[in-house]
Amino acid sequence: MRDSPIVASVDFDADGAQHGFLRLPYSRDDSAWGSVMIPVTVIKNGEGPTALLTGGNHGDEYEGPVALFDLAATLKPESIAGRVIIVPAMNYPAFLAGTRTSPIDRGNLNRSFPGRPDGTVTEKIADYFQRVLLPLADNVLDFHSGGRTLDFLPFAAAHVLPDKMHEDRCFAAVKAFGAPYAVKMLEIDAVGMYDSAAEAMGRVFVTTELGGGGSSCARTVGIARRGVRNFLAHCGNLDADIEASPSVWLDMPSDDCFAFSEHDGLIECLVDLGGEVAADQPVARVYPTARTGVAPIDYCANMDGILVARHFPGLVKTGDCVAVVGVTLDDA
Ligand SMILES: [Zn+2]
Repeated sequence: MRDSPIVASVDFDADGAQHGFLRLPYSRDDSAWGSVMIPVTVIKNGEGPTALLTGGNHGDEYEGPVALFDLAATLKPESIAGRVIIVPAMNYPAFLAGTRTSPIDRGNLNRSFPGRPDGTVTEKIADYFQRVLLPLADNVLDFHSGGRTLDFLPFAAAHVLPDKMHEDRCFAAVKAFGAPYAVKMLEIDAVGMYDSAAEAMGRVFVTTELGGGGSSCARTVGIARRGVRNFLAHCGNLDADIEASPSVWLDMPSDDCFAFSEHDGLIECLVDLGGEVAADQPVARVYPTARTGVAPIDYCANMDGILVARHFPGLVKTGDCVAVVGVTLDDA
C-alpha cells in the first residue's frame, strides 16, 4: 500500500514538548497546493509507554477538545514518563465547521477506518491513525460527547471484547478515568470505528460520552480534564494520585435501550438525564407543529433503568433518537 500523504511536522521520537501539525495536502478552489493542518502535540521524556489522546473525532463535540488543547499547552515533559501524543481535533475540517462529519466529503471519521491513503480527506486521516499513530500507542483515549443532536450523562466506556484479559485492561482504565458513570458497551455495528481499529491492535482503548448539545459546560469539561490526568496516571505516564470518586456502572444491553421518533415535531423531555424510568413509562412527547389541536405522541422506555441520553435541541425529525435508557449494575 502507498505511504500516507500526511506529513507530521513533529518528530515522534524526540524528547521534549513539540507543537506542530499533521499536514494533509488538499488542493482546492481557494487554496491551490493547500493543506489541511491538523494540530498535534508530542510530549516525550525518555522511555515509557505511549498514550494517544484524541478529541474532535466528531467535529461538534467539545469537552475533549477543550481538555486536550489545555493539556497540550500545559503538560511539561519533566512531569511525565514516556510519550503523550495529543490530537485535540482529529477530524479537523469537521471541527472547524462545527459539524459531526467533514464538510469536504461528508465523511464520518469514526466510520472510516481503516481508511485509505488514496481516498477522501476523511479516509486519509483514518489511514494515518491506522498505520502511523495507533502502532505508536499503548493506550488510547478518544473523547466523544453528544454533539449537536444528543445530550449524555457523563460516562467513560470500553467495549466488551473477545479477549477477556484485554477487556479487563480496558475496563481498568475506564475505572481510573473516574467519570460519574461508566459503561460496558456492546457495539451492535462496529464496522469502520476507530475503537475497533485500536482494539484489533490490542491497544487499551477508552472512549467517553460527556454531555453534548453542541457545546460544553464547566462540569463536563472538569470531568474531561480530571479524567485525562487520571488516565495518564493509570497508564504510567504521570506520577500523580488518581483523584475520582467511584463511577456508577451502567449496561446498555440491547436495541431496546433506544427510542426513535416516528414523527417530526416539538419534543418535550418527560424525564431528565439520570432520572429513573420504568418499562412503558413515557420518556419523551412529540407535538406535531403544523397546526394546533393535534394530540402529541408519547415515546416510552422499553425497560427499567435511568435516562442516559436525550435528544437535543427542541425539534425532532422522524428517525431521530429521542432517548436512551441504561441499566444500573451493582458493581464493575
Ligand atoms: Zn462522537
